[in-house]
Amino acid sequence: MDIKELDKKYVLPTYARGDVSFVSGNNATLVDADGKKYIDFTSGIGVVSVGHANKRVNDAICKQIANITHISNLYYIAPQAEAAQKVVEASGYDMKCFFANSGAEANEGAIKIARKHGERDGEIKRYKIITLQHSFHGRTITTVKATGQEAMHNYFGPFPDGFVYADDIASIEALLDDHTAGVMIELIQGEGGVEPQDKVEVQALAKLLKEKQIPLIVDEVQTGAYRTGEFTASQLYGIDPEIITLAKGVGGGVPVGIVMTSLKEVLSAGDHGSTFGGNYLSSAAVCAVVEILNELKSSGDLEITSLLFNNALESFYNAHKDIFTQKVGIGMMCGLRVKDADTLSKIMTHAKESGVMVLKAGRNTLRFLPPLTITKEEIDEGFKALNTAMSYI
Ligand SMILES: *Cc1c(COP(=O)(O)O)cnc(C)c1O
Repeated sequence: MDIKELDKKYVLPTYARGDVSFVSGNNATLVDADGKKYIDFTSGIGVVSVGHANKRVNDAICKQIANITHISNLYYIAPQAEAAQKVVEASGYDMKCFFANSGAEANEGAIKIARKHGERDGEIKRYKIITLQHSFHGRTITTVKATGQEAMHNYFGPFPDGFVYADDIASIEALLDDHTAGVMIELIQGEGGVEPQDKVEVQALAKLLKEKQIPLIVDEVQTGAYRTGEFTASQLYGIDPEIITLAKGVGGGVPVGIVMTSLKEVLSAGDHGSTFGGNYLSSAAVCAVVEILNELKSSGDLEITSLLFNNALESFYNAHKDIFTQKVGIGMMCGLRVKDADTLSKIMTHAKESGVMVLKAGRNTLRFLPPLTITKEEIDEGFKALNTAMSYI
């Protein structure tokens, strides 16, 4: 049976799939079932941070699974402890990690830590979590409710109580009260449309929350793993949050979610857990990915690649100012605002036909999340294809 028919018959229709199926990849280059090549400016929504079929990651995974893949968190798992060390050291924060399997699950863990921290004997119970409008925190019932987009709350209720949405960073202060257990933000909203927050406002918020002893949770599921130039965007913003969540790029394609926190004593044995989280397979991948990315950063190659990509994007933007109204983003998390939604859809279609994969995000944004290892040749080829696509708009 044809793959499309098979999918239609057996897979629930929760995704509006693009009409293409990839069979292999190499760094930022993809090959579809017909042998056609594409440049990947998406890295699978910011996941394949070190490129497709990265040999070092693949070798690390193969070496690990030849010995043991899984035995549960009831015993010590060496690669998990090593992955935690690598992640904590790369961040520079004095934190400990919990390993989950996805971004939403990492955020669930973060909310549990903030809420347990907010339970104080004899005092008012702190349970409210403040999040931002246009945010995205995941697809579980709780993280859907944490997501500040009304359209995502249409079904599935009743939801857990205690989620409050602020219009922007500056309006969070007015929402804090004796019941606030935490504030959860993305420093650059990803799904919401590649929307960086203002550094000064974020620093002021972080300071205020420290004074009030309310944990700041930074959802770095998309911004983490050097996407913005530092291991976490929190480092770039010069803040010291209590909780950071990671997923997407930190596993390089293997499912993993991580909550890291300086609140090391809040959770005790039995409070939280995961069957798969931090098993040998995913931890071996995290170790290899973080090692590669650390080297990319310290050699200066990450900065060079980011400059090359942003220069190419700037030229592309300047050449099509009739279509694009603004270039947005930080590091290799970039976007172009498109004048209207219709045009954005057309660009997506023609880009694919011209041999380059791009993403869209809220607020009419054409989104770019290339592998951090993308080469100059791949960047040039990708924008050449995008220019071809624009000739049809
Ligand atoms: C993708 C994303 C999530 C959800 O991650 P999943 O792995 O799909 O559960 C949460 N927060 C942010 C900021 C994201 O970009």
